[in-house]
Amino acid sequence: MKEIILLKDGELALKGLNRRTFEDILIKNIRTRLRHSVGEFKFIRAQSTTVIEPVDESVDFEKAVDIIQHIFGVVGISRAAQCEKNIEIIKQTALEYLGDDLAFARTFKVDAKRSDKKFPMTSPEICNEVGGFLLSKFHHLKVDVHNPDIKVTVEIRDNHAFVHGNQLKGAGGMPTGSGGNACVLISGGIDSPVAAWMMAKRGLKLTAVHFASPPYTSQRAEMKVHELLKKVAKYSGRIDLYTVHFTELQERIRDNSPEDMFTITMRRLMMKIASEIAERNDCNALITGESVGQVASQTMWALRCTDDAAQLPVFRPCIGMDKNEIIEISRKIDTFDISIEPYEDCCTVFTPKHPKTKPTVEMARTAEAAAWDDELVKTAIDSAVHTAIF
Ligand code: ATP
Ligand code: MG
Repeated sequence: MKEIILLKDGELALKGLNRRTFEDILIKNIRTRLRHSVGEFKFIRAQSTTVIEPVDESVDFEKAVDIIQHIFGVVGISRAAQCEKNIEIIKQTALEYLGDDLAFARTFKVDAKRSDKKFPMTSPEICNEVGGFLLSKFHHLKVDVHNPDIKVTVEIRDNHAFVHGNQLKGAGGMPTGSGGNACVLISGGIDSPVAAWMMAKRGLKLTAVHFASPPYTSQRAEMKVHELLKKVAKYSGRIDLYTVHFTELQERIRDNSPEDMFTITMRRLMMKIASEIAERNDCNALITGESVGQVASQTMWALRCTDDAAQLPVFRPCIGMDKNEIIEISRKIDTFDISIEPYEDCCTVFTPKHPKTKPTVEMARTAEAAAWDDELVKTAIDSAVHTAIF
């Protein structure tokens, strides 16, 4: 039996004038992701539906379904059996394709859509015929037209008929790239992968910057960041990661700026370096996982000092969230278990005992100037290690 995936216009989270462009971006994203991980697929657009069909029928279809469900911009999909436009074959296909599901369901209904008006039966006739047939095979089943366990849909289209069960939920959001590019500052923690995911959901294509301070931070900590970004990339597609070696700069801050301003200075440098890498990658904003009041460097005063160093707008989607709300998302996107692995982050290297919680911009600029080194900053940016994460 030939299986395909149906992506309906109504299942795309897209409206208004840009709809066509967004659709094109979404289809391109799906094609690229499938090509990269499963194989080649054909995309056939007709009557407000895109039929996604494997070129080689031996591909891992389950995997393809899982991939498409996670792509931002897809609200729902239907996996369907394709068959000849003959009512006997359609009935048999419904039985074979949905039999296992129907055996466990209590109620069902049949819905028919006939876009090929030359087909000799009307939609109600198709429903009656297929519904009666299924009832004769599954005596326990009852019809429920309002809230059935399974809705069996029969679609009669130009070249084929399709039979499918309930729609599968997609990730929602906007297609990656439809909103431009942004650069996430990614640590190995819980918050920044969630922040990255939230902004990618709004259609932003991600570049990522991670600061590592070997030997204070380990190779394992860097690998953890790769693993986290892979989870986000399942939704967002490719992420270009730049790993910046931050050791000398951190040591310089430790030796030259007041101890209670250490974290703020470090975070200002992160913002400046990330801004430069972001500009080089056509990004129009930075993203961080900060949330007001979570730690000393995230008080409103501290955030003002970090913002002052950023050369781009800073998106902080977690800003008003409680930790448990952030954790809920991290569990949903499967980053939580990786985030809690106990590897050190450069933010926890040389942390001051009593960080300033109400620094002023003036103090922050002075502390930064004392530690600033053009050459070191330039080297950190130029020698950042690029990795493409899929
Ligand atoms: P997270 O859980 O995201 O690590 P956090 O609550 O631990 O956040 P901080 O360590 O203060 O908070 O970091 C605040 C934000 O700064 C992070 O959300 C992230 O965007 C950025 N950040 C922190 N450490 C790094 C790093 N090593 N490389 C890149 N960005 C970082
Ligand atoms: Mg952190």
